[in-house]
Parts: sequence; structure tokens; C-alpha cells
Amino acid sequence: MNALGQRIAELIAVNGPISVAQFMTLCQFDPQGGSYTARQTIGRDFITAPEISQSFGEMLGLWVAQTWHDQGRPENPRLVELGPGRGTLMADAIRALSAAAPHFLLDAEIVLVEASPALAALQKEKLGRVAADVRWQDRFDDSLSDRPLYVIANEFFDCLPIHQCVKTERGWCERMVGVAEGTLCFVLAPEPLAVPPEKSENAPLGAVFETAPAATAFVQEIARVIAAQGGGALFIDYGYSKTAFGETLQAIADGKFAEILAQPGQSDLSAHVDFGALKGAGEAAGAKAYGPVTQCNFLADLGIGERGERLILANPLQAREIATAIDRLVNPELMGEMFKVLAVAPKTAPQVPGFGLDK
Ligand code: SAH
Repeated sequence: MNALGQRIAELIAVNGPISVAQFMTLCQFDPQGGSYTARQTIGRDFITAPEISQSFGEMLGLWVAQTWHDQGRPENPRLVELGPGRGTLMADAIRALSAAAPHFLLDAEIVLVEASPALAALQKEKLGRVAADVRWQDRFDDSLSDRPLYVIANEFFDCLPIHQCVKTERGWCERMVGVAEGTLCFVLAPEPLAVPPEKSENAPLGAVFETAPAATAFVQEIARVIAAQGGGALFIDYGYSKTAFGETLQAIADGKFAEILAQPGQSDLSAHVDFGALKGAGEAAGAKAYGPVTQCNFLADLGIGERGERLILANPLQAREIATAIDRLVNPELMGEMFKVLAVAPKTAPQVPGFGLDK
């Protein structure tokens, strides 16, 4: 086991088993050994849509421009990106915004919410020269609640910590990370949960249920601000449309599945996003939620086909690369159907763009 694994094992020896959520946080953000703090995980363990094609960030920039325009161009908007990774998405979105809605950029404050100092430094390098008012925060807090709020987040919710529970003879017990014979292992909490998952009476023994309270808290807080101040949020991730039983926590190292507990921090830990729960959280906070729709229908509705054709006309020598990259985003067998899009906007605002195709 690596150094971070040893430290986690020592922590468990002192305090007892930790939740899967705590384990994820340590693996991602431990200052010395975390995957987001100390390893170039994006682009090495996995690749994301903005890193595949510049059209992705441009379409999201156009979504913000259109949504802001349809809402009567509110003054002093704030554009926030959650988990901006290498900063590519925001750089592409700003380029599209400066062409489609220069007034938005003149007025807007742009805030990148990034918990990893190493990634924030990379983003600053990439965005240092853009002509816009950009600043960074390590969390989404109350300081972001006083202006119309536009939010974009791609592959952010999948890395937020989840809890798992397992159906046993004695009820639903939380799955924890413990230590046996010097190595990390999964164990069950001795006491069952006081409140079992909804509609879980008929689930078989051994069934797993995941919850992501950090993810729902983010959506709730953002939806509350949007309902009060105006704006819109776009959440894109791989996941499922309705809450369901099943185990989706995974570790990916260098593009391949890896053991979750074997080398903490040396793989990317994530779980499929429960869009049903996120939608419910947005609606409970008083906003209107759109979708989830598939990424292919969302991008097609926004006109990624036409955008691709124009890019190819402008760069004929790269025609094949451009077409292949866009196909990767929209092909149902690649990222097109696995990735879903959910939007949140005020109940009183016009329908947001991108949700006109039905799936
Ligand atoms: N959106 C990017 C990167 C996705 S990886 C892209 O599409 O390429 C997830 C990103 O979220 C990383 O930048 C990670 O450091 C950040 N992150 C994860 N949990 C976070 C949290 N709780 N608060 C802020 N940033 C977080």
C-alpha cells in the first residue's frame, strides 16, 4: 500500500472505520497524495468533453448567452463554474460569450470554484490573459448569492463523495472502509441505518444503495439563489435519470478500471450521478428543473452540428479531427447517451435552450 494508504490505515486504527464518502475525500484532496491535489488525473486517468473538443465549452457559453438574453439581460450577472479542471471549458465558453454576448462579459463577474490548489494554479495560467473579470474560490458559499447566477458544471457531481449502504439480515447498514491484516477493506457498520432507503422493502439481501448528500446540497443551494436572483445552471455528467439501487463507485487509473482500495489517490474515484435526486433537490429549493436529457439531444438542439460544419469550413485541414471529436461527444454509443444534462432556472423565466428534443 502507498503512503496515503498507510496514513488512512493509521487514521482508521485510531478512530475506527471511515465512510466511503470520507475515503473518497481523502483520496481526492489529501495535500500530499490526493488525485486532484498531487496527481495529473484529468487527461491521464480520464478525459472529459471540453478536453476532447472546443465545441463543447463553446456550446455551453452560447447556452449562458441565450439564457441571459431570454431573461431580459439582467445586470451584473455572475458566471460560476464548479470544478473547472484544467480551465479549458471556461476558456472556450468565454470565447463564445465574447462573440455572442459581449455585454454579458463586460458586466459579469466570473468565479471558478476549485478545491484543488494545483488545479486552480493551472486554471489561472490558462485564463490569465482573457479580457474578463475572473476570480477563484475554493468553495461555493454565501458570497455567491447576491447577483443573478449562471452556473456550469461538467463532470463535477460524479466526483463528489457518496455514501453506500447494503441490505443485510439486520437492516440497511452503511458500508465503511476498515483495516484487516494491514490492508484497507470494506466492512459494514454494526448498527443499521435508522431510516432505510425509500421503496427498499423488496430489495434482495446484498443490494446496494448510494446517496450523495454533498451533490444534493450543492444543487439545493444553487437553485435557491437562482430562484431568488434569476439566472440558470447547467449540470452535465454521466449518470442515471431516476433514483435506483446499484453500486456505481469506480476507480479509473490510466484509462482502465482499478481496485478502489488498493492505491489511494493513484486513480480517479467517481460514481454515477443520480439525476433524479438532483432534480428533486432543485425543485425542492423553489426552482424549475429541466431534463435530464441526453448529451446528444442537448448538443444537437443547441446546434453543435452547424457549429462543427463552420469549424470545418474555417479549418479544412483539420476536418477529420474536428468531426471525430464531435462524434465522440454526441454518438449514442460513445458519450452521447451515457452523459445527461440537467438545468435549473427560475419558475417564472422562459424555457431554457437545449431541452426541446424529448430524450
Ligand atoms: N470540469 C472539468 C474537470 C472535471 S474533474 C472538465 O470537464 O474537464 C472534477 C473537478 O472538480 C476538478 O477540478 C476537482 O478538483 C474539482 N472538485 C472536486 N470536488 C470539489 C469540491 N468539493 N469543490 C470544488 N471543486 C471540486
